[in-house]
Amino acid sequence: MKTVIEIKKLIKTYQVGDIAVHALRGVNLAVQEGEFVAIMGASGSGKSTLMNLIGCLDVPTSGSYILDGKDVTSMSKNDYANIRNEKIGFVFQGFNLLSRTTALENVELPLSYDRSMRIENPKQASIEALTRVGLGDRIDHQPNQLSGGQQQRVAIARALVNQPAIILADEPTGNLDSLTSIEVLAIFQELNNQGITVVLVTHEPDIAMYAKRVIKMQDGQIVRDSIVENRHDAFIDLAKAKQEKIQAEQSDFLDGVNSK
Ligand code: ADP
Ligand code: MG
Repeated sequence: MKTVIEIKKLIKTYQVGDIAVHALRGVNLAVQEGEFVAIMGASGSGKSTLMNLIGCLDVPTSGSYILDGKDVTSMSKNDYANIRNEKIGFVFQGFNLLSRTTALENVELPLSYDRSMRIENPKQASIEALTRVGLGDRIDHQPNQLSGGQQQRVAIARALVNQPAIILADEPTGNLDSLTSIEVLAIFQELNNQGITVVLVTHEPDIAMYAKRVIKMQDGQIVRDSIVENRHDAFIDLAKAKQEKIQAEQSDFLDGVNSK
């Protein structure tokens, strides 16, 4: 098995004026290719800080980090940008799409920053990524012409288009209702079934049930690391939820008929 994330004794201390904020206090973590990890923990426990370090958005105070076989611990800022483009796909709570810009253009954008030109045909690759998330028929729609769930799927397509080693998602369902959340989780599960490593932050236990492994953080440390038993299958839950909705509508309808 291939280790995609190997973190040892990671410490991150933010200096705010005279005060040192110990956001991470020695985190050790190994994630293998093909895992689906949920990171949980109360607000302020260090989840986003850890995600930012895994995603090479920030540098640790000390400790080491090997990402997909590359030691990124002592890289320069420039190298960081390159390694991000090459290895990481980000999905955020607020979608972070450009308005008045089509789904296709939003997905193509990261490829225009990629100086390695690894992807030969950016437009074709973007259409394929949108098709993978079920939006092949919405490529010319702008964010305001899409539902929240569809916008998040565009963001997932944008994360996918670089063929990253890992997808990192920080509270990706935080702005979505429960049914739409399960739709988005179905996509993460499907991508994970295809071999993509997924690391997702959530504070909702229901959401973590769709992962394979759950890590709990507290005060800048990992305090629990466990396999998800009775893992939820988003496709099955979606089918059930839709069936229940239809039954509820039918029963409302019959109530209406019977009361006439
Ligand atoms: P979580 O995502 O679990 O809510 P964070 O990683 O955002 O937690 O924050 C962990 C701790 O680090 C908190 O005490 C927070 O206030 C602090 N923190 C986060 N980012 C910064 C920053 N840029 N500057 C100073 N302190 C920060
Ligand atoms: Mg956070």
